[in-house]
Amino acid sequence: MEREVRVRFAPSPTGPLHIGGVRTALYNYLFARQHGGKMILRIEDTDSNRFVPGAEDYINEALAWLGIGIDEGVREGGPYGPYKQSERRDIYRQHVRQLLDAGKAYIAFDTPAELEAARAATPNFQYDASTRMQMRNSLSLPADEVKRLMDEGAQYVVRFLIEPGREVEVNDLIRGKVVIKSDILDDKVLYKSADDLPTYHLANIVDDHLMEVSHVIRGEEWLPSAPLHVLLYEAFGWADTMPAFVHLPLLLKPDGKGKLSKRDGDRLGFPVFPLEWHDPKSGDVSSGYRESGYLPQAVVNFLALLGWNPGDDSEVMSMDELIAKFSLDHCSKSGAKFAFEKGKWFNHTYLQELSDAELGKLFKPVLEANGVDVSKYSDEYIAQVAGLVKGRINFVKDLWDQAKFFFVAPEEYDPKAIKKRWTPDTPAQLEELIAVMDAVPDFGGAETEPAVLAYIADKGYHLGNLMNAFRLTVVGECKGPHMFDITRLLGKEETFRRIRLGCERISVNE
Ligand code: GLU
Repeated sequence: MEREVRVRFAPSPTGPLHIGGVRTALYNYLFARQHGGKMILRIEDTDSNRFVPGAEDYINEALAWLGIGIDEGVREGGPYGPYKQSERRDIYRQHVRQLLDAGKAYIAFDTPAELEAARAATPNFQYDASTRMQMRNSLSLPADEVKRLMDEGAQYVVRFLIEPGREVEVNDLIRGKVVIKSDILDDKVLYKSADDLPTYHLANIVDDHLMEVSHVIRGEEWLPSAPLHVLLYEAFGWADTMPAFVHLPLLLKPDGKGKLSKRDGDRLGFPVFPLEWHDPKSGDVSSGYRESGYLPQAVVNFLALLGWNPGDDSEVMSMDELIAKFSLDHCSKSGAKFAFEKGKWFNHTYLQELSDAELGKLFKPVLEANGVDVSKYSDEYIAQVAGLVKGRINFVKDLWDQAKFFFVAPEEYDPKAIKKRWTPDTPAQLEELIAVMDAVPDFGGAETEPAVLAYIADKGYHLGNLMNAFRLTVVGECKGPHMFDITRLLGKEETFRRIRLGCERISVNE
């Protein structure tokens, strides 16, 4: 029988979730949904020294914003809980005991100073078969000495006993079979008495087993841990139900080799976090995709293509389409360049798919932030304005640059345009245009534009100069959407007021 697909995203709450972690979460989610399986969110908080307050909430909020749904987790609950490792101490204790009893692990008493001395004495010191008998542990010390130390309450760690001379096979669904020699592995610490907590390796394996995880999909940086994990499954006797491994390619710098870092984002001007992050210690604020004006569906689409391709030339794909098309066969082994410009393009594209009304809603807070009293404008007006300029924006906030003249009359007029387009005759000609437009029964209707153009042609006025002068008075510069779309929205009164105001101001300064 096919095993039920159960995947987990297992972040450590040590800071804001990095965009690479978001991609890992997304691929897990796509895979789970595609197979009708379950997506688990497990919080791996066994490293108490690195715990950062607020990080867990941040993870939940980021995943919710992106639409990455969780089936089982700390908030969602589920039959395999608790889903936070710091609440599973008893489970880990039992499993550590199991390994000790089976002789697959041992107790080590070496103090930090002793380990330091060993490292100083032996170049490339590794705690393993070649050195462990010279160290202070339950294999090297007499049994009564071990008992005495334990009775005294000495601090200790539990180490995994790695047998040398083994070939360890990791079967990775993207990378194929990876074989490594057990000799290069060290006797990893699995548990520390000091805080009565397991290390990442033990907790991760025990939980993946108990939570019946079928596929471990995670970043490439965890590949070096995989052989150890395989040996742990064997040591517990769980080799038959070991999950399949999938190590996703690294995210690389946009402009070269090497891993993407926060510094690349600062240098090139893009966020590396899904949401803005306020560091509780330093007070530093790091920018986020949400606050920078990205739509979650654009971020999802962009990230989905960093390490996977659909096998055809589709680019714009909704979450449902991604779920349908996703496949591990089309995930790449080699790193994916973080092409953030493409991210902007996706955002632009998704903004075009919003209705004018939806975009208008997003525009309102931007207007307010720029001091516009939005109660003076109907939703319909704001939506129409947004609709007129949306082709020119990558972010919602760009709407302000493109459309502020729909809310405030220009105070200044582009001097270059004045020089090029304005003549002493302009004010009189514009006043004639006012009369022509005033005579059209429906100012906002289709008749206004042909009437104005016919008049200009009839009079032999310079079309380009006069229309640009007209635009200059209304907009302040020679850019923007079609002139008669602007005047239709502004209305007759405001249009005429601006033309006259412009004529006064520009003629004086000429
Ligand atoms: N807690 C690890 C992390 O922070 C989990 C790695 C894994 O998925 O095994 O990424």
